[in-house]
Amino acid sequence: MPEESAEKHRPQYKRVILKLSGESLAHAGERGISMDEVTVIAKQVKQAHELGCQIALVVGGGNILRGAQFKGSSGELIQEATAHYMGMLATVINALAMQDALESIGCATRVMSAIKMDGVAESFIRRRAIRHLEKGRIVILAAGTGAPYVTTDTAAANRGLELDADIVLKATRVDGVYSEDPEKNPHAILYRELDYDTVMEKNLKVMDSTAIAQCRTHQLPILIFNFKKDGNIVKAVSGQKVGTRISPRSASGERILINAT
Ligand code: UDP
Repeated sequence: MPEESAEKHRPQYKRVILKLSGESLAHAGERGISMDEVTVIAKQVKQAHELGCQIALVVGGGNILRGAQFKGSSGELIQEATAHYMGMLATVINALAMQDALESIGCATRVMSAIKMDGVAESFIRRRAIRHLEKGRIVILAAGTGAPYVTTDTAAANRGLELDADIVLKATRVDGVYSEDPEKNPHAILYRELDYDTVMEKNLKVMDSTAIAQCRTHQLPILIFNFKKDGNIVKAVSGQKVGTRISPRSASGERILINAT
């Protein structure tokens, strides 16, 4: 990054969790992995890391398989619980792709898996993960929480708490949280700031509800932003105006529901 812009962007956060959905690693509307897409994200992650922010990535697996696809499908040979384990393994495939993309551009990384997988990845050990982050390694957290029936959103929230992150950054293909689906209603309102209660009460599509509840209980802020816009990951870690920030009510207990300007 040129000196001038490095000056402009200073990390607001010491440590962040960056949640990337599996779909972010594929071409829009496709499945599988596109290393072109992975490399574009890796370059953005590198820039953000170079600002001095410690980054732990939580990668999803939806580009390959989601366990819920098998929900209640009596007659299917694959049981739903099995499918969730398959989904977790899908996140490991994505994590390895991301690791090679980051290493190819000079980033030191470690993949840490919630499911023990010697020979493929280190097992997730909280204190070891923190040590890697402190040593300037980008940590890629694979296999979600290691438990079925939840998603990697919940893993992002849990790991955010365990690793004492300042915020969970959730990278999406939309600009933030809207009052309605912006693809169905062009007049949908983009919120700039929200509190957890409003997100839950209005059932706004942000992250899965377990993840929101977890963040709310422990007051871990979330930023939903569009990673497809170049430079947005850097903006997100440097606290610039991007996406929708979800945090507790204001100090005086007032609700926060601020529309984009
Ligand atoms: N998964 C799980 N436990 C976890 C994380 C993930 O069982 O802690 C499974 C679940 O079936 C999920 C799939 O792995 O659907 C892939 O993760 P996710 O759906 O979060 O991927 P994304 O939508 O972010 O690509």
